[in-house]
Amino acid sequence: MSAPLLTATGVHKNYGNTQALRGVDFAIEAGEIVAVTGPSGCGKSTLLHCLAGLLSVDAGEIRYRDQDIGLFSEAARSRLRRSDFGVLFQFGQLVPELTAAENVALPLLLSGSGRKGAREAALGWLDRFGVADLADKRPGAVSGGQQQRVAVARAMVTEPKVVFADEPTGALDQLNGEQVLGAMVRVAREQGTAVVLVTHEATIAAYADREISLRDGAVDPTGLGVAP
Ligand code: ADP
Repeated sequence: MSAPLLTATGVHKNYGNTQALRGVDFAIEAGEIVAVTGPSGCGKSTLLHCLAGLLSVDAGEIRYRDQDIGLFSEAARSRLRRSDFGVLFQFGQLVPELTAAENVALPLLLSGSGRKGAREAALGWLDRFGVADLADKRPGAVSGGQQQRVAVARAMVTEPKVVFADEPTGALDQLNGEQVLGAMVRVAREQGTAVVLVTHEATIAAYADREISLRDGAVDPTGLGVAP
């Protein structure tokens, strides 16, 4: 078995008196797609934010390629997120004033790419997600499913090693949700991109290679999760 790409060991995270994570262990290998499931409030989103370095942990550690990211400066964590991580949320993540192509090009521009190259890459990624014809439309002018395809293209345009997706289909109906997720999983497999997929839906978790289930801030040892 290859070494994990990203691991959480004994992670605790509190919000005031709320213990959101109580000693969670987690590991994902390069190219693996892992669903994190469990009932609302069990800590899924908090775990995803800790893994992505968006939240610091209160105890335990998060290692990426064998480096403890808790020891990184905020600037170093931001650089790591820009170069190696992609994030995708439920909705509302596109910049409303920018076109689809401009939204997808944005992470490349922030990483120092030139405008022309960034636009060309953005068009290519929109095409991979079947929305190239929407390149010059703003988010408000396209459907929810189309917006989410643009958001997936934006999360993957930098060719990250890991995509963190927090209920990425939660705002879509079942058919649209499965189409968006199916496209994301297909492209992730082609690229060898690992995906941490937070979901409370069994049909969505079924797209993953593996599922871990949380309950009350800890890994559920029964592993029953949301699978039928
Ligand atoms: P899930 O993603 O499984 O719904 P969360 O990680 O969002 O769970 O939440 C875990 C627990 O932490 C819940 O009890 C939730 O109410 C609490 N929580 C989450 N975010 C915050 C916050 N910013 N401030 C206070 N409590 C929070």
